[in-house]
Amino acid sequence: MFKKVGLIALSTGLVLSGVGLSNADAAKKDVTPKVKQNWNGPVENVIYMIPDGFGANHAANYRIFKGEEAVWDSHIKGMYTTYSANADITDSAAAGTAMAAGVKTNNGVIGFDTAGNEVKTILEASEEAGKSSGLVATSTITHATPASFASHVEHRSNETEIARQYIQESGVDVILGGGKNYFLPSSEGGKQTELNLIDEAQEKGFEFAETRAQLEEIGNVNVEKGEKLLGLFADDALAPEFDRVETEEPSLAEMTETAIDALSQDKDGFFLMVEGSQIDWAGEENDAAYAMHDTKAFEEAVQEAIEFAQQDGKTLVIIAGDHETGGMSVGSATSSNAAAEILKNVTATGGFMAEQLNEDRLNVKEVVQQYTGIDLTVDEVKTIQQAENAKLAINKVLSERAGIGWTRYGHSAAPVPVFAFGPQSDKFVGFHDNTDLPKIIADAMKLK
Ligand SMILES: [Zn+2]
Repeated sequence: MFKKVGLIALSTGLVLSGVGLSNADAAKKDVTPKVKQNWNGPVENVIYMIPDGFGANHAANYRIFKGEEAVWDSHIKGMYTTYSANADITDSAAAGTAMAAGVKTNNGVIGFDTAGNEVKTILEASEEAGKSSGLVATSTITHATPASFASHVEHRSNETEIARQYIQESGVDVILGGGKNYFLPSSEGGKQTELNLIDEAQEKGFEFAETRAQLEEIGNVNVEKGEKLLGLFADDALAPEFDRVETEEPSLAEMTETAIDALSQDKDGFFLMVEGSQIDWAGEENDAAYAMHDTKAFEEAVQEAIEFAQQDGKTLVIIAGDHETGGMSVGSATSSNAAAEILKNVTATGGFMAEQLNEDRLNVKEVVQQYTGIDLTVDEVKTIQQAENAKLAINKVLSERAGIGWTRYGHSAAPVPVFAFGPQSDKFVGFHDNTDLPKIIADAMKLK
């Protein structure tokens, strides 16, 4: 049974974002967690939480947006570099491979080193040690970051092959996210030639859900008894958090809670990877409000993980972005105002607002007012009306208002912070390379 406010937000169906409700809930739940007991043995469970594209300035802007410390802030441990084997600026495939397997590879490659050798991931090593495993994401579940933990492909774009490996070859017990089309054959509108991986999964003992209600109906899945869980809640990626409450998709926190409930039945422990996938996509469009609201959804998922770890005492939670996206700053080229809190009332992405504009963009002021509560100046209206790309222009105006600067429509090479909670979390103290992270985790778990 989900504990969260989503049900209420769903049943009212009145709000686009459900912001008000969730804020109240988050405030109520704000606690300073402490590890329950001092466990000195090997870490039994690992929850590896990856906010894709989340750098130090995302963390700073999010504190301003929230008006207080984020759940992870007091668990800051260190920073690390993110470059790939062939580029200063990594993509999510090379970054994921580094964070999952501890080796540098070329951009685009998943689960192979630069010489083409298959590399073992921390999820696979956990499976070999008799633990259960899970993948949760708000992108397609076959996207680069989750794929890096449980598949091996020469290029990340081969998502049908990644799906095949998940079901036919990997030992992953819980798979929750988007991307149903990559599991279905073309005869059913999917992208597989012939395979129906959802049928195959069910034959292998997976319970299958495609809506939030079905996920809840399935109830407790017990991996200790060999039960497994596949939830694919959209044909492609899941919705941005803004739009999710109007869909039948579960929240990232609900998927995380469900995965922990199932995996924690395993007496030998578990490894779970959870990705807040769309913080990166917001950065690529320099959409500050989208970035902040998806960070909030990710924070609620982290809260679930930390609450479990706090109770359990043998669980290590790591929060680590795979790279920074957007070259974000606190303060922009023209504004020294740090005002991310004004984005709290935004209820749509810049892309959605741009789609609501009429042909001559004469309704800019009304549209932006409706979805942000912000009253644009004459100059701001003109800027958006005359821009080549209305979406990017709206995002730029709102970022300026929030005192948030951007330098790129892509990833940057900025080092990123790592936060950790639970036994042996101090092993992350210091300055590292992204390839060090799975090695530190393996050492804490006493895996080979
Ligand atoms: Zn990424």
